[in-house]
Amino acid sequence: MGMKPGAGMKADAVVVGAGVVGAAVARALAVSGRRVVIVEQGVPGGAVSGASLACIGTHMMDEDELPLLKWCCDEWAAFASVAPDFEYSRCGQLRFLKQESERRSADEWIGIETAAGLSPTLLDPDAVRRIEPELTGPIHAATWSPNSAVVNPFLAVRRLLEAAQAAGATLVSRRPVTALRLAGGRIAGVETAEGPIEAGIVVLAGGPWTAKLAATAGVDLPIVPRKAQCLATVSVPPSIRTVVGACKAEGGVDAGYTQIQQAMSGQILFNTVLEGGVTAAGSPDDIPEVDRAFIRDSVATLLFLFPAFVQIDLLRSWVRYEAVTPDDRFLTGPAGPDGLFIAAGDGGTGFVRSLGMARIIADFVGGRESPFRRDLYDPARFDMKAAA
Ligand SMILES: Cc1cc2nc3c(=O)[nH]c(=O)nc-3n(C[C@H](O)[C@H](O)[C@H](O)COP(=O)(O)OP(=O)(O)OC[C@H]3O[C@@H](n4cnc5c(N)ncnc54)[C@H](O)[C@@H]3O)c2cc1C
Repeated sequence: MGMKPGAGMKADAVVVGAGVVGAAVARALAVSGRRVVIVEQGVPGGAVSGASLACIGTHMMDEDELPLLKWCCDEWAAFASVAPDFEYSRCGQLRFLKQESERRSADEWIGIETAAGLSPTLLDPDAVRRIEPELTGPIHAATWSPNSAVVNPFLAVRRLLEAAQAAGATLVSRRPVTALRLAGGRIAGVETAEGPIEAGIVVLAGGPWTAKLAATAGVDLPIVPRKAQCLATVSVPPSIRTVVGACKAEGGVDAGYTQIQQAMSGQILFNTVLEGGVTAAGSPDDIPEVDRAFIRDSVATLLFLFPAFVQIDLLRSWVRYEAVTPDDRFLTGPAGPDGLFIAAGDGGTGFVRSLGMARIIADFVGGRESPFRRDLYDPARFDMKAAA
């Protein structure tokens, strides 16, 4: 099915990047009848998407984005019911509070989400242990968001690409797009090391590399790379049932970020970030080792919550770069010359939002309204220079 990769390719739309966002965009465009070529410089899912903890949820997220996030959670569930297995598990999410002073923040989150039609609750430690028996550390309480799910990130990207290919899309891996092609002031395709691909629509879903590519068409995007790190233990018998994180509140460990869960392989995946990790000067092409302080803090938080895990060995660690915008929302929609669309700027929660970003692009291309606010993601909300 589709076209043979090589010089002289033509398509209705080229999607640059086969992370979860590009895969979702390719699927949405192919399903709506466009001839799509998706071009990936490395291997599909090999950048931040495959490194993800891939929690699909609405808890303690941007209030304005809740309608989109709810829509995305439903779409992921619907996709899981039709696609071959990608380890989708609706396991729920707990956010622990260390002390009484965090109650106000927890109550505020619960109020906001309840008003949006969600059903988070606050649990005392005994109730928490009924859901998560090994969580025996001295927490004050935890919020509980039952609608959160997790997926296997590699398999999820693969399933989206398979769905795109089944609808006629062509995937070209290991081929960097080197520049955008313009003709008569509008997009005419992309340049690659092995020749151009002609298309009237180009969607940039290149994660932290997106700004560099947009600049080849004179479009300036405010996206910077941010280091994201993770640890994994050896496989152990089932011990963690949910996604466990810290309540977003002022002060202490909770000012940072914690996420702990167990993969179906049995590995416990976890990270705790106490300080901001924005590395605007860094390059997503250079992948350093994880920081020692990150390992120390992450292990300390894991053992604070799950003291019985003290004997479990660490297996591996990894670092990838997320794409961050000034307001942590995606840049999704048309930008610069006619025919150019952006879908990047995941802000660290791009897995859950990928299907919504794909819907926005498909709606723009198809001239339809979207079932949620898309002005929130308008790339033009920041200063942007278009080509002269
Ligand atoms: C440890 C960790 C935990 C996370 N946990 C969660 C979570 O629980 N929930 C959640 O929603 N999100 C989570 N995230 C974030 C989520 O993984 C990302 O937001 C999401 O994967 C971003 O997808 P993407 O497709 O935009 O980017 P990427 O996966 O980086 O994909 C971009 C692709 O574009 C390709 N590309 C770039 N430039 C070019 C070019 N010029 N030519 C060809 N190809 C190009 C790249 O090679 C890459 O494959 C987590 C991330 C990490 C690292």
